Amino acid sequence: MSKLKLMHSRSDVDAFHREMTKAGRTVGFVPTMGALHVGHGELIARSAAENDETVVSIFVNPKQFGPSEDFSKYPRTLDSDTLLAESFGATAIFAPSVADMYPKGFLSSVKVHELDKVLCGAFREGHFDGVCTVVLLLLNLIRAQKAYFGMKDFQQLSIIKRMCADLGHTTAIVEVPTVRESDGLALSSRNKYLDAAGRIQAKAVPSCLARAAELFLRGETSANVLLEASLSVLKEHKLMPQYLELRNADHIVEVVPQVSKRGLLAVAQFIETPTSPCRLIDNVVLSTEPFYKRILEDLISKTKVN
Ligand code: AMP
Repeated sequence: MSKLKLMHSRSDVDAFHREMTKAGRTVGFVPTMGALHVGHGELIARSAAENDETVVSIFVNPKQFGPSEDFSKYPRTLDSDTLLAESFGATAIFAPSVADMYPKGFLSSVKVHELDKVLCGAFREGHFDGVCTVVLLLLNLIRAQKAYFGMKDFQQLSIIKRMCADLGHTTAIVEVPTVRESDGLALSSRNKYLDAAGRIQAKAVPSCLARAAELFLRGETSANVLLEASLSVLKEHKLMPQYLELRNADHIVEVVPQVSKRGLLAVAQFIETPTSPCRLIDNVVLSTEPFYKRILEDLISKTKVN
């Protein structure tokens, strides 16, 4: 029989925290919006390997969706999510309702300035305030030793690291590399929206990053050259990105003319589907440090196979 603990309210989580503290058990935390896939699974497995207990939160956060975004149609699959989370090593699920998270009278919000203005932030007004508010609230409720976030959402990760450092949060933030399909497409809950033609086009997104990564690993560091090469892959597939930019990965407000230590090449691309366009985001860190170089080589080889 399943030993997975299901928690729905703030008081359930509080009782869990007291129980774990008393038992001297370490807790890892993986925040998600559900519709779980193997990418989330990787975060859960990493937490399970490093902590006694792993809590996965499943909450589609209304505060981070704009009025024209997909909040109501965002996939909600709690039963299959629970099974997937448990199979990767989760020991508890926190699935609150909107009223549990934001009870009547809730008036607070959290903002990380500047970092929220660039890349996705330039097109999704208020999105990162919604993310910060829910993440800080979740971190405060769960009180884990470590929390796990994907590099797939690199800007989100940068903002959360800044928020936790600025506000003195004690939960350590752990970053996990992007999990990709065999052809390089980053796993995403939104891939479900793609039809067959859209899926073929979507492959151009990791391919455009791979083209720049290949040039970079051969010694090219000029942003103009790398961006031009990357854009040409999207154009070959009749795509035009919402943004395609090269920034300083350690301080994303800086656009860089030249990659020096760690460059962030980030892209957002809409893909047409039979219903509404599906927005995909992806990125790579251009760096020759072994950790990043391995990631770049893996991406390049995946995009070559199919
Ligand atoms: P979401 O449910 O989309 O809000 O994502 C929850 C967490 O999973 C975030 O930290 C994401 O960055 C991470 N994540 C989503 N997709 C991937 C992926 N393909 N690889 C690694 N982490 C991912």
